[in-house]
Amino acid sequence: MALQTQISGESRVAEISCAFCQGLGTDPFGIMSSLSTCCICGGRGVVRVRAPHTDCAHCGGSGAIKTLTCTACGGKGKIPLPPGPTFVCRECMGTGDDLSAPSMACLKCRGRGWVFSGFPESSVNAMNRRRATRL
Ligand SMILES: [Zn+2]
Ligand SMILES: [Zn+2]
Ligand SMILES: [Zn+2]
Repeated sequence: MALQTQISGESRVAEISCAFCQGLGTDPFGIMSSLSTCCICGGRGVVRVRAPHTDCAHCGGSGAIKTLTCTACGGKGKIPLPPGPTFVCRECMGTGDDLSAPSMACLKCRGRGWVFSGFPESSVNAMNRRRATRL
């Protein structure tokens, strides 16, 4: 896995081994059949994730919660990082799990285990407003 952390305006995409099937390309839990293809990578064994990325907190990078696809990372096991700084989610203390139901993703950070500095919507709105007044 090549982890390139050059930061530019362009988002780059990395191809990584599929966490859900561990790169095998087959359904790891044999829900349909043990020979059926992995629903995350479509049997290719690799998935594309925007880089830089980090391990998904909710599933610990495995892409699965018990036998279900992790809702936080969509089964890829990785979460793309935002360009700005992130902070540990105070709701789940960085575990990405809903405290009352650990198989569910934390609602505050959506299972990532971290949140953006400020909060997404408000900072985006503030940015747009600033841009609007300047123009
Ligand atoms: Zn797969
Ligand atoms: Zn996950
Ligand atoms: Zn959280």
